Amino acid sequence: MFKTFYPDEDVVSAYDIPYERLYKSGIKGVIFDIDNTLVPHGAPADDRAKELFIRLNEIGLKTCLLSNNKEPRVASFAKSAGSSCYIFRGNKPGIGGYKKAMERMGTTTKDTIFVGDQLFTDVYGAKRAGIYNILVKPINPKEEIQIVLKRALEAIVLYFYHRDKKKAK
Ligand SMILES: [Mg+2]
Repeated sequence: MFKTFYPDEDVVSAYDIPYERLYKSGIKGVIFDIDNTLVPHGAPADDRAKELFIRLNEIGLKTCLLSNNKEPRVASFAKSAGSSCYIFRGNKPGIGGYKKAMERMGTTTKDTIFVGDQLFTDVYGAKRAGIYNILVKPINPKEEIQIVLKRALEAIVLYFYHRDKKKAK
């Protein structure tokens, strides 16, 4: 039952993903969660985030931000990061936001990937939408209490995920 929430892949950071290689393998668009995926919760885009969007743009990858946060937060981050595509109140793990993001980028489930830090919203939603998903470690380990509880549940799922991953090798 935990497999429902397993990510397709897990990496330490959204900044460690080999986007050039993904583009060469046929990926055309990347959907990103914002908070704790690209920057700490509520933080504006820093130089690292800005450089990432410049890099992705140069590669030729389309990007879209998909957040459950409200418009002011998402719009101001998108502006400072230099991403023209953003979706606020994304209602993840609902699949509507993922579909909208692909529509806006002109991509499909076959050539889109999703990058996010939460299993039960980000990863689960991407899986339901049929999009290859990459889980990253949350940037800031200090989180609000409702997220702390979710993290405890995530830790259980990740324990089995990593165990199965080791077995599969
Ligand atoms: Mg997040």
